[in-house]
Amino acid sequence: MRVGIGYDIHQLVKGRRLVLGGVPIPFEKGPKSHSDGDVLLHALTDALLGACGLGDIGQHFPNTDPVWRDAKSRIFVQKTMELLNDRRFNVVNVDASIFAEAPKLITYVDRMCENIAELLRVQTSCINVKAGTNEGCDAVGRGEAIAAEVIVLVTEKIL
Ligand code: MG
Repeated sequence: MRVGIGYDIHQLVKGRRLVLGGVPIPFEKGPKSHSDGDVLLHALTDALLGACGLGDIGQHFPNTDPVWRDAKSRIFVQKTMELLNDRRFNVVNVDASIFAEAPKLITYVDRMCENIAELLRVQTSCINVKAGTNEGCDAVGRGEAIAAEVIVLVTEKIL
């Protein structure tokens, strides 16, 4: 068993689409980002890489590389899962928190869990996504940023 943790934060700006866990969410602002800025999938990617001792998202998918400009972040998770498969790691479960003052995200959480379960090839019941505010504190609380943190447990297949 190995555990990994991931965290991501992006500024929220006008004129960008908000996507979380691969789910497009109608909102007046979206993340300032090189890729689509999906903080949940970025934190998930980092957690998966971390659990397997494979570094971080910036090493694998640098935000200076034009290949990843406006990329859908599910690609980062898919490519990371290829690395896990090569090394015979299986995901056990994921727990995640999204921090956003607005919009209300509760109605989108089930779809995020379904997307993540499909990407990680596990049952939806193995994925948990929580959505909360920052109670008015700091940049997230002022609605200037959105953040996510993810923890993941993986197992190494024994041959
Ligand atoms: Mg990011």
